[in-house]
Amino acid sequence: MSRNPLNPEEVLAEARRRMPETLELLASLVETNSHAENAEGVAACLSLLEPRLRALGLETQVLEIPMPEPREAGSAPFRRHLLACSPEPERGRPTVLMSFHLDTVFPKEHGFQKLVERSAERWRGPGVSDMKGGIVTGLLTLELFKGLGALGLAHWRFLLNTDEELGSPTGMAALRKAAEGVDLALCFEAARPCGGLVVARKGLGAGRFIATGKSGHAGIAHDTGVNAFTSMARAVVAAEALEARFPGLTVSPGGKVAVGPVALNMIPDHAECELEWRFTELAVGEAVLEELGRIAERVGAEAGAPVRFEGSLEAPPMAESARTKAVLEAYVGAARDLGMNIQGVATAGVGDMNHVSRMGALCLDGVGPEGGGFHTENEYLVVDSLARRAAMNVVGLSRYLGEGERA
Ligand SMILES: [Zn+2]
Repeated sequence: MSRNPLNPEEVLAEARRRMPETLELLASLVETNSHAENAEGVAACLSLLEPRLRALGLETQVLEIPMPEPREAGSAPFRRHLLACSPEPERGRPTVLMSFHLDTVFPKEHGFQKLVERSAERWRGPGVSDMKGGIVTGLLTLELFKGLGALGLAHWRFLLNTDEELGSPTGMAALRKAAEGVDLALCFEAARPCGGLVVARKGLGAGRFIATGKSGHAGIAHDTGVNAFTSMARAVVAAEALEARFPGLTVSPGGKVAVGPVALNMIPDHAECELEWRFTELAVGEAVLEELGRIAERVGAEAGAPVRFEGSLEAPPMAESARTKAVLEAYVGAARDLGMNIQGVATAGVGDMNHVSRMGALCLDGVGPEGGGFHTENEYLVVDSLARRAAMNVVGLSRYLGEGERA
């Protein structure tokens, strides 16, 4: 690390000087379709990025992860992800993971493929902020560190997941590999409104109630029929009531709902309803999973039509820890010195960092640029935020890691 503390204004000025080449790279990335199913487009984008990562002195490797079984007809047998790392970790240097996804939600056939707006203030295009803008912000962050002679501050890992928008069916294995033994993980998804950084995410559980009754004519066989729908509905209401018992818990029935047979004059003998639950503590997520099983049993016994619950925890929470405060303070202070007013926020949305957090890394999400309209044709990027947010990362990280070194 450089001896003198960084001057935030100088870092920002340097970031802005590097804007033309950063924007040129971003334009090429945005106009090259990289939907996860478009292997050629993904490869083309990776070949734009790999030389830039090597120029930073990072060693790159392609992680080829097989598709989970059973495979959909016509799908590729594996997907490729790119991991770039600082050479040989030096003892005492913290390991920092910078996490990105290269894929966008727009397939090759979609009408939204180009930069449709390109003013000095705002760009609009597929993936311009989610998260190709994040990728160039991360790259610029490392280039600025290199320019300052401070790249040795950490052992860097730069991961490009190529199927995040599909739920990381293969990217999760790449992420787990990249996150092993990491001290700090930064996810370069775009900032929350007003520039907020995500310090906590709720965990997620998902499952369904399945009720089995006895069918018959609703009029003639009303006494002998057993209504599966009624049992399922009672279970759903009881599940929702769990919210009152566990602070921070939300229970949301919905998704796929099925009742049969479908005629109004028939008593349904089959009913099922999906539901999901979100929680701030892993213990609550697990307790709710158990409770849902108990509810199914109890309601089935009371209402006559047996109910069963099938479900599991999909993601652990990305929890805030004592260490979160220190890294957040460093970032908030850096942002303030750069003329930005930001704060840490907790969200109920689940992301890749939920899993990284469970592996023991301190996680900070939303450190990418400012933008909005994600997953729509209105996706936009606030152009100057690339430089400001890269400078925020440089100054914030150097303060946090620098202090960590002294501690
Ligand atoms: Zn994204």
